[in-house]
Amino acid sequence: MKDIVPSPPPIVRNDVAAVQALFQQNVVPTYGRFEIVLSHGSGSYLYDLTGRRYLDLGGGIAVTSLGHAHPAITEALVEQSRKLIHVSNFYYHEPQGRLAQALVGLIAPGKCFFCNSGAEANEGLFKLARKFGHDEGRFEILTTLNSFHGRTLAGIAATGQEKVKKGFEPMVPGFRQVPYNDLEAMRAALSPATAAIMIEGIQGEGGVTSASVEYLLGLRRLCDEKKLLLLMDSVQCGHFRTGRFQSFQRLLEGVPGGEAFLPDGISMAKSLGGGFPIGAFWVRAPYADLLGAGTHGTTYGGSPLACAVALKILEVIEREKLSDNARQVGAFLKHGLQELANKYPTVIQNVRGVGLMLGIELAPNVPNLPGDSSKTQSIRFANLLHAAGLLAIPAGTNVMRFLPSLNLRQGEAEEGLRIVESVIAPMAG
Ligand SMILES: *Cc1c(COP(=O)(O)O)cnc(C)c1O
Repeated sequence: MKDIVPSPPPIVRNDVAAVQALFQQNVVPTYGRFEIVLSHGSGSYLYDLTGRRYLDLGGGIAVTSLGHAHPAITEALVEQSRKLIHVSNFYYHEPQGRLAQALVGLIAPGKCFFCNSGAEANEGLFKLARKFGHDEGRFEILTTLNSFHGRTLAGIAATGQEKVKKGFEPMVPGFRQVPYNDLEAMRAALSPATAAIMIEGIQGEGGVTSASVEYLLGLRRLCDEKKLLLLMDSVQCGHFRTGRFQSFQRLLEGVPGGEAFLPDGISMAKSLGGGFPIGAFWVRAPYADLLGAGTHGTTYGGSPLACAVALKILEVIEREKLSDNARQVGAFLKHGLQELANKYPTVIQNVRGVGLMLGIELAPNVPNLPGDSSKTQSIRFANLLHAAGLLAIPAGTNVMRFLPSLNLRQGEAEEGLRIVESVIAPMAG
């Protein structure tokens, strides 16, 4: 029988160069990729085509909340795909309704909209803010320096990093940035056209910087006073990574008035789907019906398959108490990194973060840091960690991030610390 689709040219098994050549010839080169060709994973370990094993403390940038090849995710994918993968959002289906109910239950009364990524989730919140301010002629959204809000045109306009904007001007109007954790700068930047403020509870791409208690509470008061929406981009720092569902819940723990704090909108993605694409935003009750029929939409968003996976992940997180695990193993890992910083101050200058969202800041000029000196310190450091069998994610020029699976075991954290020390010790001489 004649093949309907011609078979693709064969990939030589285990041939790293062959896969890289496919990329070089056929994939738009928007990423500076590391020289690793990954093949499969299990739990917090990844394997490359040559069979090398890596401890994955990057988690696909805070995505693989249950690690790799988790049987519960496979089961949810198989079971739901036997029943129903996709229907148009013109119709109802149970998984989307149940997932919205679960997220509302974890945050506060309100409603959810489902999409496929973090950038789209933020885009939805930007449209919510525009709609909110529209009749008063208000449209402006203030964000912060060093923030990251995605790669769409509105996302890069909102992001407080020049490198994502460069070459794509003119920017979508209506976004301005002010320094993070600076309440007075935010107040001073308000204009009669301002409709909303968006911040990350913990800046991820910006280098793992947490919002201060005073900042969070102050922004809430400011937004109430000026009738602004307070929007939080929880795409990276959310989903139990800090030991609570939302990073602001963790940051405000034990603070007088802290438990009453609520933003007006929250964007989610990354860990929500554990690797299956899904994004969402939650909007607080008084504004939950602002985006009415016909005002916003997406073909794929909130599909039965995506929602079934997200629901299964929530079930496993609850059953296996992974929020507590993130808190405990995160504290252990942070303590270990802090000890390394104390022992090797010429290499690690600072350790930051909460739960399993941690960052180490390298000293401005690490002595004896091997690698191509045209590359940033964080890229060179990542290459050394990779060579030693550990995957971590650079942030900016000087920070390495650890965003592992929420079920990371203490023994795996210990192994990670040993690998980090094996890389640092020779530099400190
Ligand atoms: C990753 C990220 C985004 C963008 O999410 P995508 O799924 O890549 O579109 C937005 N905001 C924050 C804080 C992120 O970390």
